[in-house]
Amino acid sequence: MKRRDFLKGSLQSGAAVLTGGALAPVTAEARPNLQPKEDAIGMLFDSTLCVGCKACVAKCKQVNDMPPVTESEIRAWDEARDLSGDTLNVIKTYKNGDGSTKDAENNGFAFEKRSCMHCVDPGCVSVCPVTALTQHEKTGIVSYNPDACIGCRNCMAGCPYNVPQFQYDKPFGQIMKCQMCNQKGVERIDNGLLTGCSEVCPTGATLFGTRKALLAEAKRRMELKPGDTYTYPRGDVSNPGSYHDKRVPTYKQHIWGETEAGGTNVMHISAISFDKLGLPPLGERSACSVAEGVQHSLYSYLALPAVLMAGLSYVVKRNTDEEGEGS
Ligand code: SF4
Ligand code: SF4
Ligand code: SF4
Repeated sequence: MKRRDFLKGSLQSGAAVLTGGALAPVTAEARPNLQPKEDAIGMLFDSTLCVGCKACVAKCKQVNDMPPVTESEIRAWDEARDLSGDTLNVIKTYKNGDGSTKDAENNGFAFEKRSCMHCVDPGCVSVCPVTALTQHEKTGIVSYNPDACIGCRNCMAGCPYNVPQFQYDKPFGQIMKCQMCNQKGVERIDNGLLTGCSEVCPTGATLFGTRKALLAEAKRRMELKPGDTYTYPRGDVSNPGSYHDKRVPTYKQHIWGETEAGGTNVMHISAISFDKLGLPPLGERSACSVAEGVQHSLYSYLALPAVLMAGLSYVVKRNTDEEGEGS
């Protein structure tokens, strides 16, 4: 066989492999968002009910066996503190002008709870290379396994809410995040208890329940007439420990977490805009659904050299056989 014929045959067959149906065209498409689990559990934070007492912060630390709120933190009750390697839940304060009116954007103040949102389509789980972060198939709780973690910190970049925190001050630091009070050794949910923060919240600002029941409650509140009185539940939305009456505020007609980035199991409602409370503007598409689609496409493209090589080998063999037959 002449060298020119070999090259020509190889190129023709390589092209045929690529274009002739042996390998379907590869496009960088997003996969669909993951959908909420049927029995997902979560929390509803109603900013208009929060009085900034930080009972939830203290209880969270107790449940998770973390250093208690310090005296200086108690004195600075209205100071914004963020999540850290030893704080999984924080109450932040919005303040404008003279800060005289609760839940007013101008000359007002409001509180916001920050902890893991337990995303329906969690970015942290998607980017973890060793499955140290997982989503429970029934409850949707996003959990962390320190024994599997290699400390790469991808999850910190993969979370749209800056939730996972690394213990930089420890020689063998771990990632810390809220695990809905159900990690190994705590297991409040498995034992039929509420999350610690929901249990102690005196106003029901942090409410526990299934995502479905919480979403229904949030929608009910959107329908209430401002100025009317509503009987707000405390604890578990489906089995409240107690109730209290309060005048209905003018809610923003938006349930944050119903659809953002594919939705979250921890949802927020408020009387002031969510950007003032520090929640990022997000579309309905989860970032990881797009990234995983592109990633899988890239892996498909990486298969091209192997397919081409297989095609070339086939041509060489066929041409060699033909040459042998002809000689
Ligand atoms: S669910 Fe538990 S770990 Fe999460 S913020 Fe509430 S108390 Fe803390
Ligand atoms: S730091 Fe740990 S949990 Fe986070 S992505 Fe890396 S291996 Fe996974
Ligand atoms: S809020 Fe961040 S840490 Fe929590 S599940 Fe979503 S991506 Fe993961």
